Amino acid sequence: MMHIFLIGYPIGHSLSPAIHNAALRAVGLDWRYELMETRPDEVPAAVARLRAADCAGANVTIPYKERIGEWLDGLGESARRIGAVNTVIKRDGKLIGENTDGIGFMQALRDAHIDPHRARVVILGAGGAARAIAFALAEAGAQSIVVLNRTPRRARLVVDLLSRHFPQLELGLNLAGALRSADMIVNATPVGMSPKPYESPLPTGSGVPRGTVVFDLVYCPAETQFLRDAARVGARPLGGLGMLVHQGAATFKLWTGREPPLEVMFDAARLALGESGGI
Ligand code: NAP
Repeated sequence: MMHIFLIGYPIGHSLSPAIHNAALRAVGLDWRYELMETRPDEVPAAVARLRAADCAGANVTIPYKERIGEWLDGLGESARRIGAVNTVIKRDGKLIGENTDGIGFMQALRDAHIDPHRARVVILGAGGAARAIAFALAEAGAQSIVVLNRTPRRARLVVDLLSRHFPQLELGLNLAGALRSADMIVNATPVGMSPKPYESPLPTGSGVPRGTVVFDLVYCPAETQFLRDAARVGARPLGGLGMLVHQGAATFKLWTGREPPLEVMFDAARLALGESGGI
């Protein structure tokens, strides 16, 4: 039997095993997707496990997306540009880092009929997911991107990276005032995630303008405090489940070479979220 692992910490809340195991069963593969909760000093051992012949690859999540690359044999184009890995595949026996977060994010926007061309965007967070989303939005023609992050140095790294790749893009760093004129606000932090669903990632005292697209990457609970507050003022709330399934579908194709059974994956995600009390 082949194995696929999720490397991260903490990952007990993850819906990915339910989504991928349902998809693997649906296409008739005798493979298993398993959690590999990994503390920082265990990362080299976790990567060594991926080298075994019975392993087809892995997902990588919080907090290792930007750091796992140093233990791999190479990076694909997506991960190299962004500087973050959410997927490990095997190519000719080598471990290669890829990134499907941007694909998943953009597909979730398309499903909701939202075109970010010329949009003024604020991204809350500056980690691996924020980087992938910023690149995807810049490639889709966003007009401006402001990065707000608890640790300013990390926000600066993302803005500097974007300015090198997209010289025409208007960029800003920790400008909370940008929220007032934003067409789209993306939460790429874990703030608001269960078991603290009452927290909002917005800076204290700031609100969301009417009509703004508010995209919360958090998917457990399905309706976060941030999304509830957004809906109350007439903004357009979008939860993280669609992105989760779509980035998973893109990854599934990389590991297996098979067409991902999208409906099966969405059904499994909703079922697992309901069972965890997140819906
Ligand atoms: P990451 O690389 O570890 O980055 C985490 C980011 O969140 C950093 O900017 C960090 O700020 C910020 N942060 C963490 N705790 C915070 C707090 N208490 N207050 C304020 N800021 C905080 O993680 P990631 O991989 O980018 O993931 C970020 C979130 O997105 C996670 O919740 C993850 O589950 C979710 N996600 C969802 C999807 C999806 O498909 N829906 C896909 C990817 C990620 P500092 O720099 O100050 O530490």
